[in-house]
Amino acid sequence: MSATVIDGKAFAAKVRGQVAEHVTRLKDKHEITPGLAVVLVGEDPASQVYVRSKGKMTVEVGMKSVEHKLDADTSEADLLAVIDKLNNDASIHGILVQLPLPGHLNEDLVINSIDPAKDVDGFHISNVGLLGTGQKSMVPCTPLGCLMMLRDHHGSLSGMDAVVIGRSNIVGKPMAQLLLGDSCTVTIAHSRTKDLPEVVKRADIVVAAVGRPEMVPGDWIKPGATVIDVGINRLDAPEKGEGKTRLVGDVEYDSCAAVAGAISPVPGGVGPMTIACLLANTLTACCRANGLEEPAGLTA
Ligand code: NAD
Repeated sequence: MSATVIDGKAFAAKVRGQVAEHVTRLKDKHEITPGLAVVLVGEDPASQVYVRSKGKMTVEVGMKSVEHKLDADTSEADLLAVIDKLNNDASIHGILVQLPLPGHLNEDLVINSIDPAKDVDGFHISNVGLLGTGQKSMVPCTPLGCLMMLRDHHGSLSGMDAVVIGRSNIVGKPMAQLLLGDSCTVTIAHSRTKDLPEVVKRADIVVAAVGRPEMVPGDWIKPGATVIDVGINRLDAPEKGEGKTRLVGDVEYDSCAAVAGAISPVPGGVGPMTIACLLANTLTACCRANGLEEPAGLTA
């Protein structure tokens, strides 16, 4: 069997196109422009790259993009003051504080100071609680992207056995909640799970979010299962030249693709969906803030 490749790059482009159409309609009909503010503290190179591409894509879909770049030694009080200002700015519908923050800043405190209605990352404790109780919330972008890809491929997920490997607050746990919300039978596996291969072998859907390069081999996969690889791991690639690297997922792609029914690659799978879902969340937040109907198919 050779798996269908779930093309996250193409799907993300489609989602961004849908967001852009809604933004045009909001501007034409209601004279509203959704606004996304990204706050970056410090000069972490990877975070700088993420923030740049978020800003670029925000503008590309017709939204207002605001960036606040703060020094690495910014005090908690000063950061909270920036967030407070954004919370009270009616032209800003989404606020994202780029993580990780420098060590002297309390991440939980900072995230929980964002207005939950503008928390487009879905990390505020109120949104976590709303998602866990099946209520309308802002949903974390990466798991939302995975859910959209799974729904697009399968239609209904009802009754399917899903195994999520990883229990982080940003991917594993919200992913499990979303799959439960779509009536899957969900198992969350983690570093202490006994006999992980047997657990994974039960799954119709495997979502790997661990951060360990190629840890899931093909012989853990049930024939025909759908495999979503969230992992982003950078490995040295001397074969490409000195100092070169390559990206791999948490899944051993070739051996899994030989057994699975469908699989998302790395790169070009979940990664591009994350920013597309950030834009979708900003649009959703803007519609909610203005009492307008939410865009169909772009939320959980
Ligand atoms: P994390 O380090 O917070 O969590 C990793 C989880 O994996 C933990 O819950 C841990 O229990 C589990 N784990 C560790 N070793 C394990 C093992 N041997 N067997 C089973 N489980 C094990 O990581 P995270 O933030 O959830 O990210 C996971 C991966 O997803 C990383 O590679 C990260 O780069 C990637 N990621 C990608 C995107 C994207 O946009 N595509 C977004 C977020 C994270």
